[in-house]
Amino acid sequence: MNADADKVQANILKSDTEDLLDRVTAYRIGMESQAIDEIERELRKRGVNAVQIADHREKCERTCLFLPDGIAKTCSLCRSPAIKEGWGWHRLMGKVPIFPHWLRCCSRHASQL
Ligand SMILES: [Zn+2]
Repeated sequence: MNADADKVQANILKSDTEDLLDRVTAYRIGMESQAIDEIERELRKRGVNAVQIADHREKCERTCLFLPDGIAKTCSLCRSPAIKEGWGWHRLMGKVPIFPHWLRCCSRHASQL
């Protein structure tokens, strides 16, 4: 394995299962097939089967927002796929609203809109 492959493998191992599921479903189109294979192998090790991956993909197709190329839009506040977008507030230290800006939000951050 080269240094880049080692970094990819290390990243996969330290990522949580939900993040890996998002990568092989919502962001699959933008990924290299080798990375997809490695993530699916890791998911199998964690006890996630093909049916669960298909369920995650189906849920994403129903709820996520997509770019024209078919890749899910990413939340403005984290790496999860966005389910909602609109005007929100840029907040000083995460609290004091300063100016409005366009946000894309995942289910966890949807209350920001
Ligand atoms: Zn988010």
